[in-house]
Parts: sequence; C-alpha cells; structure tokens
Amino acid sequence: MNIALIGAGLMGQALGQHLLTQGQQLTVFNRSPEKSEQLQALGASISLSAQDALEKSEYCLLMLSDADAINTVLDSISPDVFKDKLIIQMGTIAPEESRDIAKRIELYHGRYIECPVLGSLPEARTGTLILMSGGSDNDYKAALPLLNIIGSNPKHIGEIGQGATVKLAMNQLIAGLTSSFALSLALVEKEGIEIEQFMSIVRESALYAPTFDKKLQRMVDQDFSNPNFPTKHLAKDVRLFTEVASRLGLETCALEGIGQLLANTLDQGLADTDYSAVYAGVTKKQ
Ligand code: NAP
Repeated sequence: MNIALIGAGLMGQALGQHLLTQGQQLTVFNRSPEKSEQLQALGASISLSAQDALEKSEYCLLMLSDADAINTVLDSISPDVFKDKLIIQMGTIAPEESRDIAKRIELYHGRYIECPVLGSLPEARTGTLILMSGGSDNDYKAALPLLNIIGSNPKHIGEIGQGATVKLAMNQLIAGLTSSFALSLALVEKEGIEIEQFMSIVRESALYAPTFDKKLQRMVDQDFSNPNFPTKHLAKDVRLFTEVASRLGLETCALEGIGQLLANTLDQGLADTDYSAVYAGVTKKQ
C-alpha cells in the first residue's frame, strides 16, 4: 500500500517502523524534519510538506498531538488535493473536534475516518494496537486492509465521534487507575511498609490492574525518562473528557481533581516524561 504518515512523534515513528517492516510504501511528513530521519533510514520517503505527502498517497494517517495540530496541518494543504483521498485520524481528540475535521475534509471532497488507538510504542511496533474507529461503513471498509496491519482486531464503533468517545473513556480509566495507584503506593512507602508485601496483596485482590506492575518500577525509582506516553497528553485527554462529560450533564468532580494533579505534575517540568510521573505529583504536594 502507498501510505502517507503525517506526524513522526513517538507514536508516528513506532507505527512507521511497523509499516515499513510489513513491506508498505511510506511517505512521511513531520513539522520538525529531524524526527523523520530514523524512518528514512528504514526506507521511508520524506516529504517536506504535508501536501506533498498527501498527493503521493492512497491512504493518509494523521498521528498528531491534538486537534489544533491537525487543523494546522490541514490548513497547509490546498483543498483540491483532498479529492478522493482517505484520511485516517489516529490521535486522541474530542468527538466534536473529530466531527468538525470530518466536515472540513468532506467539504474538500475527501474521505475521513477517525481511528484512535489504545496501546503504546511496543504495540505500535508490533501491529497490536487496539483500534476504535468511527466513520461510514464504506470508508471503514476501504481503510480496513491498512487497519488490519496496524491492529490485530480493529473495531468499527459507529459514526464519527463514537470512536473518539470510546478512546476518551479508555483514557479516563488510565488517568483514574494510575493516579489512584500512585497515591496508595506513596502512602505505604511513607509508612515504611515493604513495597513487595503491599504489591502481593494488591495482586491477590480483585482490585489489581496489570498497569500497576507496568508503572511500579518507574514510580519506586522516580525515573520517568524515555516516555511511551507523555504526561502532557494524558493531561490533554483528561481535559477533553471533562469538557465532553460535563457538557453531557455528568458529574466530573473526581476527574477534575485528577486534572489538577496532572496540572501540578506538569508544573514540575514533567510534561514530556512518562505519565507515571503522576507519582511525583502526589508526593510533592503543592
Ligand atoms: P508526540 O510524540 O508529542 O508527537 C506529536 C506529533 O504532533 C509530532 O509529530 C509533532 O510534530 C506534531 N505536532 C504537534 N503540534 C503540531 C503543530 N502545531 N503542527 C504540526 N505538527 C504538530 O505524541 P505521540 O505520543 O506520538 O501521540 C500522538 C497522538 O496519539 C496524541 O493525540 C496522543 O494523545 C495519542 N496517543 C499516544 C499514545 C502514546 O503511547 N504515546 C498512545 C495512544 C494515543 P513535532 O515533532 O514537530 O513537534
């Protein structure tokens, strides 16, 4: 397949590596060109503009930070280039933002589906991401050959906005589980309880989640370097979830507390570190 990848940040690079190992033809554009170099070394062609990448492609993957980044990239492309192109948006954005982007691309006679992903760099590198898609049946079917390379069991949730909603719901769980675990871990540490003893009880209980063990060592060592998923993006997702849920009349006070905790963590200069840095947020009270 002839694929454009717009966005070679952490996830874009990992996904690009996988597509290249699967023998796909990849054209990459990234705002900061040096981040495309690794993919170029693996065989990708590099474009110096998003428009050039889109022109050369059959499918176009967007793996960008947020809706502002997506709209900035779309602004840089001449509307006539979108005609009949299939754009697959994979970042985590709000349902309304995705619907607005869809309208914009449809106005330019392009095709759009959203396909946010759950999983991180290891899953992106091995084609095992969990994919939650929203869009028309026809556009989803057209994207499916590519989605089957990116994830093992892609799911078509429904119309545009519904995939984005499920993704936000999953990330609310990430924020809740991780901040909750960080606080319990910090309490037992402060009281001088042996961590392994605490963990053996957590693991035996119905409260255990595998993500606790994934983040345990980073929290104990207070080493949040080499992120898979940066704290700033979890903070973004909590903000988006809070806005959407409160607009729908849900009580979001618990999540607002987590949002504040993440804001405190960012204030410690930990925006670009792994989101397990929420542990630093709970241990350095502001
Ligand atoms: P990242 O490493 O921060 O990369 C962000 C990408 O967006 C970079 O390519 C960046 O370009 C580009 N970008 C940001 N602002 C831009 C702008 N104004 N104009 C043009 N390009 C812009 O993020 P990531 O971890 O790859 O995540 C990408 C998306 O996937 C996010 O929505 C994130 O929430 C979601 N996600 C991430 C993970 C994960 O584990 N990392 C997992 C699931 C979902 P530059 O390089 O020039 O800054």
